[in-house]
Amino acid sequence: MAPKPTTPAHFIDGEWVAPLEGGTREIRCPADGSLVATVAEGSAADSEAAIAAARRAFDSGVWSSTPAVERGALLLALADRLEAEKEEVARLEALDTGKRMVEARIDMDDIIGVFRHFGKLADADAGRVVDAGMPSVASRVVYEPVGVCSLISPWNYPLLQTSWKVAPAIAAGCAFIVKPSELTPSTSMWLVATLDDLGLPKGVGNLILGAGAAVGDPLTSDPRVDMVSFTGGLVTGKRIMASAAETVKKIALELGGKNPNVVFADADLPAAIDNALTAIFLDSGQVCSAGSRLIVEASIHDEVVDELVRRAEKIRLGGPFDERAETGPLISAAHREKVEAYVAAGIAEGAVLRTGGTRPEAEQYQAGFYYLPTILDECRSGMSCVRDESFGPVLTVETFEGDDPDSVEDAAVAIANDTHYGLAGAVWSQNAGRAERVARRLRHGTIWINDYHPYVPQAEWGGFGQSGIGRELGVAGLEEYREAKHIWHNTRSAPAGWFDAD
Ligand code: NAD
Repeated sequence: MAPKPTTPAHFIDGEWVAPLEGGTREIRCPADGSLVATVAEGSAADSEAAIAAARRAFDSGVWSSTPAVERGALLLALADRLEAEKEEVARLEALDTGKRMVEARIDMDDIIGVFRHFGKLADADAGRVVDAGMPSVASRVVYEPVGVCSLISPWNYPLLQTSWKVAPAIAAGCAFIVKPSELTPSTSMWLVATLDDLGLPKGVGNLILGAGAAVGDPLTSDPRVDMVSFTGGLVTGKRIMASAAETVKKIALELGGKNPNVVFADADLPAAIDNALTAIFLDSGQVCSAGSRLIVEASIHDEVVDELVRRAEKIRLGGPFDERAETGPLISAAHREKVEAYVAAGIAEGAVLRTGGTRPEAEQYQAGFYYLPTILDECRSGMSCVRDESFGPVLTVETFEGDDPDSVEDAAVAIANDTHYGLAGAVWSQNAGRAERVARRLRHGTIWINDYHPYVPQAEWGGFGQSGIGRELGVAGLEEYREAKHIWHNTRSAPAGWFDAD
């Protein structure tokens, strides 16, 4: 492993440096409250120092003028390093987030795939020649790195979300400041130390630790920053968009989701029910694309919901190293309180609590932030539990019906699109034509047909509506970090002849 700081520190200009105001923060495992690490807690002055370092590095051209094939090679080497250190990095992630090791290992595999994807993409497209219509003119479009990027990420998939930003930034030749969630900094510390070890020039990759309110403002408003890429909640995203507007920064926003999981009566019900459970209860629902809205055809409602309740009550909770556990705790006491308030509001508005709605009672769960898998039935559009993201293990159930096959489809689509979000969703039907039609009509960035959750780094990820702006992954995920530039070269210069020379 690359050297870690011996005292709480940010990583700025190739060095571990103490926070200017000397702040520290204890990181505690959400599964049992045990102390994981004591890390730096920064201030705006620390962010300014990191921005200055990134600006200097970018303006020097040290990384943007490195051949794209070498920038890609660094990402491929990073993937190899993560593969070699996978168990230890997964452990860091599991301790910070409380998620089970089995999930953290899957995250690591996904991250390795992300580094390889952008590593291979780095030199794949150097631009294009454009026909200017004149033999004496060479006209071409080339790509330049966007510049200095603030990369701000959340706590649910700390290194994975950061990799979606850092990998294309490196591939494009940008300089950057990583700002992980203050709750889950450990794997970002591993990342910048490892990049340094692999030869990323000083100042190109920097790390600032601390609460968004303390360190966030310069990262999103400083004129030396060219782009902000943010993944997190809708409220924070709006604030960041406003902050970045003053200097017209490029922004990429990956915000929340309230994702419809639509089950038609002609679906493969055992598969649909089983996947509805993983759609919402994996990682205790702390997944932006969680299938938090079950939208089920009325004729199969009882059969589907009764079985979901029966199985939800059997889900085993536990911490990172509990091999029998199937899902883990919530991230913090504050987050659990938000989920509790959300469920209470849903019940007050008429939702019927079918299971959960409370903390587990067993002694073993009392030191962690556990919450039981919860199902709210008889929900309707307009209820706060249908409209707002809980980001917890809470499934809401709505029904649809119609007089004929077309009106059944229309009803399902209308309910599934009745959200200000638009991140992801699924449709379950064994009628392939129906599944395709409905998938095309859903206004969400990822649609699964007869499945839930899988994704590949080769395909774009992002949201319609208030789920965000721009796309990560795929080819578009690299474009976000590049500016297209048109170069017109007249090989036979001549006066324009427009204005009278005399
Ligand atoms: P959050 O918005 O509270 O925080 C996200 C990050 O922003 C953290 O690093 C935080 O410190 C920082 N931040 C907070 N205020 C800031 C400010 N004023 N300026 C700059 N940075 C600031 O979100 P969270 O609670 O960490 O994560 C959960 C949210 O993330 C959920 O809404 C979830 O849906 C969303 N999410 C979306 C995706 C996606 O791909 N669309 C993926 C994962 C998570």
